Amino acid sequence: MLQLFEKAKQTPSKTAIVEGTNHYSYQELLIKSEQVSSFLLAESNDLNQERVAFMVAPGFDYVAVQWGIWRAGGIAVPLCITYPFPSLQYVIEDTQAKYLIVGKEYESILQPYQNHSEIKFISLEEFQNSNPKALPEIAKDRGAMILYTSGTTSLPKGVLTTHTNLESQIRTLVKAWEWTSEDYILELLPLHHVHGIINVLCCALWSGGTVEFLNPFDAKKVFEIFEEGKLNVFMAVPTIYFKLISEFESYIPERQAELKKSMESFRLMISGSAALPVSVMEKWKEISGHYLLERYGMTEIGMAVSNPYDGERRAGHIGQPLPGVELGLLDEDGKKVNAGEPGEIHIKGPSVFKEYWGKPEATQKSFTDDGWFKTGDIAVLDDGYYRILGRDSIDIIKSGGYKISALEIEEVLRKHPSIKDCGVIGIPNEEWGELVVAALVTSEKIDTEQLSGWMRERMPAYKTPRRYLIIDDLPRNAMGKVTKNELKKLF
Ligand code: ATP
Ligand code: MG
Repeated sequence: MLQLFEKAKQTPSKTAIVEGTNHYSYQELLIKSEQVSSFLLAESNDLNQERVAFMVAPGFDYVAVQWGIWRAGGIAVPLCITYPFPSLQYVIEDTQAKYLIVGKEYESILQPYQNHSEIKFISLEEFQNSNPKALPEIAKDRGAMILYTSGTTSLPKGVLTTHTNLESQIRTLVKAWEWTSEDYILELLPLHHVHGIINVLCCALWSGGTVEFLNPFDAKKVFEIFEEGKLNVFMAVPTIYFKLISEFESYIPERQAELKKSMESFRLMISGSAALPVSVMEKWKEISGHYLLERYGMTEIGMAVSNPYDGERRAGHIGQPLPGVELGLLDEDGKKVNAGEPGEIHIKGPSVFKEYWGKPEATQKSFTDDGWFKTGDIAVLDDGYYRILGRDSIDIIKSGGYKISALEIEEVLRKHPSIKDCGVIGIPNEEWGELVVAALVTSEKIDTEQLSGWMRERMPAYKTPRRYLIIDDLPRNAMGKVTKNELKKLF
């Protein structure tokens, strides 16, 4: 990520970070991150891929620590600030972190590491007293970061990326989404995940732009910040758009009109990390005037497919492969599928990660013999735009010889006026293999008999859910993704 720091030196006085009323320049980021590097380098001249875990609140300090680790030659391991202790422990111990950098508010939760024999516990304040040290040369093929997958399908896996991987992920997006130093973005996503770190934070800073932090998420505050008129780029996950829409709908028409006006200043609004329901895309267009740009990516590959910056952004579709990304849709035998047929997305390119940390078998299993990464996501190419049908392991329901996409059924259910949200899964069944069932969050009492009839008018009978369960809320992980293994337990 050396390029990131070289670029920062070119715009020293520009504002890089905004945190409430505090503004921090690129120069301040460089100075503070050098203090972090110097402190870490006091013990050796190069961290040489030593893992440094850190739990720091989103904002200036977070970025300075992240940069400091990179500049000292370490591998950055950002910890999720909302995780309970066992999940933090899993990451710290799985990466065999040697250093643990901790912000004040997290000292108590990480207290068990304060006097640890193998892990050095470092409080943020300690960096102020570091003596300057020369920064090491860092080869680009060295490890730079370990991010854990969201844990949607099983225990999160540590994904090791190199400096080359990260730079490639950033360059691709900077080009495709036309980032410039004029850009000003709101950061409200978790900073232990590719979406928040790469797409928002690193792309903006790589381009000399400004990142304003908001934590925790608060829909009302988001709109207040929109009204200040400084932002021109916005990125979020579908659940956040969903929450913003409900907030917007609670306002009186005059306020709604003002807000809509204030959103004219945006040049780009993006959704990703989970499928964007067509209804959310349509509603957002209505309230903001913007067609959301939906893209597809993974911790392992960065962003791989995107709707166009210029040109049609097609609802329910993820677009086309980004420049530098090779994409193949392959069947179970590894053969390219025919046009219009579903296949598993396979990816090749410089953005693809190096390995699952400490899991050589999992790494080997996830690549084909000729080096394609197997994403586990099933998609189909409709008229030039890819559409995700879901994860092979959980959203593709195998029932009575059919392969049924849970995502397609969810799209139809969401059209029902009383259904606010839903999750479709397959549960084991002797006769059918799997049975299609749906969990529903409804706005009013719903007659499931009638709903069955309503669905049969809209989909072939074999695709319609056999059972419905009304629940208060869908189980979700820190990224707002529905955890369908949890849902399965409810049936
Ligand atoms: P785990 O690998 O631990 O089960 P995860 O796959 O959710 O968790 P991430 O790397 O955060 O972890 O998410 C990548 C996945 O998110 C993709 O494989 C895909 O299933 C889903 N995804 C990302 N963007 C989209 C999108 N636009 N539409 C549908 N699915 C998406
Ligand atoms: Mg995954």
